[in-house]
Formats: sequence, structure tokens, C-alpha cells
Amino acid sequence: MELAELQTQLAEISRQAQAAAQQAATIDALRGAESKISKGPLAELLKSIKSFPAEQRGPAGQAINQTKKAVEELFAAAQARLRDAELTGVKKLAADFDPTLPPPSVPRGSLHPVTIVQREVERVFVGLGFSVVGGPEMETEYFNFEALNIPADHPARDTQDTFWLTNGWLLRTHTSPCQVRAMQRFGPPLRVIAPGRCFRYESIDASHENTFFQIEGLLIDKDISIAHLIAFMKLALREVFHREPTIRLRPGFFPFVEPGFELDMRCEICGGSGCPTCKRSGWVEVMPCGMVHPNVLRHGNIDPHEYTGFAFGLGLTRLAMMKYGVSDIRVLNSGDLRGIVNPQRLAGRTIRAG
Ligand SMILES: [Zn+2]
Repeated sequence: MELAELQTQLAEISRQAQAAAQQAATIDALRGAESKISKGPLAELLKSIKSFPAEQRGPAGQAINQTKKAVEELFAAAQARLRDAELTGVKKLAADFDPTLPPPSVPRGSLHPVTIVQREVERVFVGLGFSVVGGPEMETEYFNFEALNIPADHPARDTQDTFWLTNGWLLRTHTSPCQVRAMQRFGPPLRVIAPGRCFRYESIDASHENTFFQIEGLLIDKDISIAHLIAFMKLALREVFHREPTIRLRPGFFPFVEPGFELDMRCEICGGSGCPTCKRSGWVEVMPCGMVHPNVLRHGNIDPHEYTGFAFGLGLTRLAMMKYGVSDIRVLNSGDLRGIVNPQRLAGRTIRAG
């Protein structure tokens, strides 16, 4: 190689180094570019000194070392510039930071639709003089069935199959056991509601789940009649739905009431035209109710000749579905938030029930 050619190559290396130093945006990138040049073309040139005529080796080596030094200085300067810029950035951030400002808002989610409906119903009934009571989800056979006039051989047990525990207890099939517990504990006169989780051994579909929420109500006093029951139910539904719902009352059989009724409400999902949620009937059962059976009063240590009362159950899960237009009950127990946390549905939607 000739000295002239070496000079051309060194000039090219300097140009590349300058370009690389300018382009690098981080110190790591700078280091990478520098090592690429010094270990690449510069190292090659140093090796090639042997190929120069003996008298040119000295000047060639000098020229290469000069360029090498220049490249090193170039990258060192570029590194210093980047460090300064970073420091200035940090200082600027510190100057811009205002510790008195409130933190950025974090989305917090919302209550579960069933919880919202439960609280609404509680508010309505507390306003009517009811107390809210609770009870165990793991119940004895006595409180879940026998005390509610459902002896062991009663066919009603077949429709309420549940999860039995090895100790002979069961997961309650309704919140009705709370009725008997409340009667035994508080005595008459009595106005209680018992919201809570219930369990059934169900085949699961759009309107049946093995786990759901109910609210149970019980009113015991002297001279309570079906007229009181109907008036209370109408008032309660109107309060919950914020308007007069379209309802129908038909005879229904429940062992713990006599007479018993099935209160249906026009399906909110389809408006009465029929859909899977209402089993294509246009009506959804929302409230089984009736006058408390004398046997149940006796189990609650209350004299049926002196006191009468009515009881009702309200499917909170079903009510939440109606209210928020959730067409599949399974969504409510799933972790899929799309079906239930829908701000447009939750934000102040008025219920159209008629
Ligand atoms: Zn429907």
C-alpha cells in the first residue's frame, strides 16, 4: 500500500467516525460505534503496516495513530455532550415537577351490578322499616328445609338439590333459613330482609347458575293479609325500578307459604317479545311470595293464631340482569368485565319496566 492511499482510507475512517458520533443518541450507542471503528478498519490498517516499504512504515504508523487518537477524542467529546444533555433533562424534569399537584387519576372500577342492586333494595326496605339480617351460607338441613315446612320426603327437595357437605350440612339453596333464624332470635312483630348468596345443583345456561344472589323478606305482625303483601310488593318494585313495572301475580306453590304466589315481571331484555333469558315467554319470575305457613311460624316459636305474616324472595342476580341488560347470567360470576362493567349501562340508566 502507498502512503497516499493510506491517507485516503484514514480520511474516510474519520468521516465515518464523525457521522457515527453525531447519529448516536445514547452513550451505549456511542461506545458501540467507537469499538466498531477501532476494532474494524483502524485495526486492519495497523496490521497492514508490514506491507509498506521499510522507510514508509514509520510515517504510516504515525498517520494511523493520529487518526486513532482523533477518533477517540471525537467519541469522548460526543459522550460528554450526551451526559450533559441527560443531566439537563433531569434538572428540567425536577424543575417542572410540582409536588402540590394531585396525582394522575387511576381508574378504580365499580361495584358489581349485583352489589349495586342489593344496596338499592336494602335502601328501599330499610325505608319501609325492615332490618337487614344475615345468615350462614353453610346451613343445616333443619334450617334450609325442615323448619321451612319441607320435610325429608317432600318432593320440593328435588327441585332444590344442592351441594352437600361431608358433615351432613349443605350450601343453602335460598336465604329463607334466615327467616326462621330471625323469628327465633327476635320474635314478633318482625320486619327483616336477608340478602345473600345461594347455591343450587343446576345445569348451567343463560338463566341458571349454581351460585346466585337472593334477598328474602319477612314481615310478621297481627292482622297481616294478602292485601298488605300485594301493596308492599308493588311499592318495593316501583322503588327499585323507579317506575311502575308491568307485573303479573299467579298462584305458585312454595312449601313455606300458604297461599303462595309467583310474581312475574315483563322481561327487560326483550320487552316481552321472548328471548332465552325469559325462556321465550316474555315474563321473568322475580318474586315468589306468599303468606307465611303456620308450620314455619311454629318453627320460629311464633303462635300462628296470634300472628300472621308474609314472605317474599327476590332474585338479586336476576334483578341485576334485568336492570343492566345482562342477557347471560354466567357473565355475572365470570371474570370477564366486558359484560358487566359497561359504563354506559351502569351510568344512570333508567329502568323501563312496562
Ligand atoms: Zn325476554
